Amino acid sequence: MAYLAAVGSHAVNGVAALHTSLLTRDAMRDFHELAPEMFLNVTNGVTPRRWMVVSNPTMAALITRRLGDGWASDLEDELVRLEPSADDPAFLDEWRAIKRNNKRALAHLMEERTGIAADPGSMFDVQVKRIHEYKRQLLNVLHVLTLYDRIKSRPDAAITPRTVIFGGKAAPGYFMAKLIIKLISSVAEVVNSDPDVAGRLKVVFIPDFNVKVGQVIYPAADLSEQISTAGKEASGTGNMKFALNGALTIGTLDGANVEIREAVGAENFFLFGLTADEVSALRARGYRPRDHVDANPRLRAVIDRIESGVFAKGDRGLFKPLVDALLSYDTYMLLADYQAYVDCQDRVDAAFRDERRWARMSVLNTARMGRFSSDRSIREYCERIWKVKLACGCRLAEPRG
Ligand SMILES: *Cc1c(COP(=O)(O)O)cnc(C)c1O
Repeated sequence: MAYLAAVGSHAVNGVAALHTSLLTRDAMRDFHELAPEMFLNVTNGVTPRRWMVVSNPTMAALITRRLGDGWASDLEDELVRLEPSADDPAFLDEWRAIKRNNKRALAHLMEERTGIAADPGSMFDVQVKRIHEYKRQLLNVLHVLTLYDRIKSRPDAAITPRTVIFGGKAAPGYFMAKLIIKLISSVAEVVNSDPDVAGRLKVVFIPDFNVKVGQVIYPAADLSEQISTAGKEASGTGNMKFALNGALTIGTLDGANVEIREAVGAENFFLFGLTADEVSALRARGYRPRDHVDANPRLRAVIDRIESGVFAKGDRGLFKPLVDALLSYDTYMLLADYQAYVDCQDRVDAAFRDERRWARMSVLNTARMGRFSSDRSIREYCERIWKVKLACGCRLAEPRG
């Protein structure tokens, strides 16, 4: 498909810097040798009108009170002026109150659609996107089960209360994706009704994820899960919607995560896992997923619990395809990244307990997301790919400096 598309096109865009460089180096190396001028990078963006003004009106109003009303149509130049507010305690209080209200709205939607009551005081840890093995929703489930295991082995353990929220559709014929959804719902049933958990851990699968529901979800997230195997996600745009709305990201160096981390600052981003180059090197020298389980008793315990059938009313066969795929091939290297992910989540827990520090990081994420406006991407498409000039009076077409 990619070869045919390249033959029929005058420009090839990788949609994020990392993916463009992987295309020219690996997937489309021959095409790049033949016609290097065809390849260019225009990183994706999201529209601040839908993904802030419409979906997060109270945060938009707070920003307008600080910056005036030009920011939504000139995000790149204007939003950064919010940075000093990250050190203003009164502003941080308002910011936290708005996030809390957005979480109440999402809790209401979740209760209506799933019957599960979530505590808006807990960390809202969110992964919403199409269900795919490379996006590694299953790695997120392994972390949930790690927390569950900690609670079960020490019911009085001090843990940061979390609501782990999933949403996303599976393609109709994608068996493994549907089985991942089944596992998430089954884990939710067991964890949410276990008296030992005592409300400190909740798991929710929001059905029928779409843009309309997304408009309630993105503004309510504390933590954005962007945990694809490095080298697999072309760009991602959910990562941008979350960060723009003040969620902190836990993520791999994949797709636009790389550029988001550069923009918001490494100290305001929770990074873990193998790099794209490390993934290919490990694959080349022969990856043995079972070694990671044999060497890690906590990972072993989590896999054992899935195999035991407790999440399948005793049916040990139901989730066998998922476990077998992990232990035999683990194409997306979940087991190689497992411990780094769990350790990073522990750093997230510690950071979340310091509410002021978290709010400061949240404001800095929003303030530094200006370059991820779709106005910037569309302007670059006009100038560098389509070679068109838009009618004057249209602000996004104004050429800059
Ligand atoms: C933004 C969005 C996506 C893309 O999410 P990623 O995390 O980038 O994969 C998918 N579906 C909906 C409904 C969205 O709003």
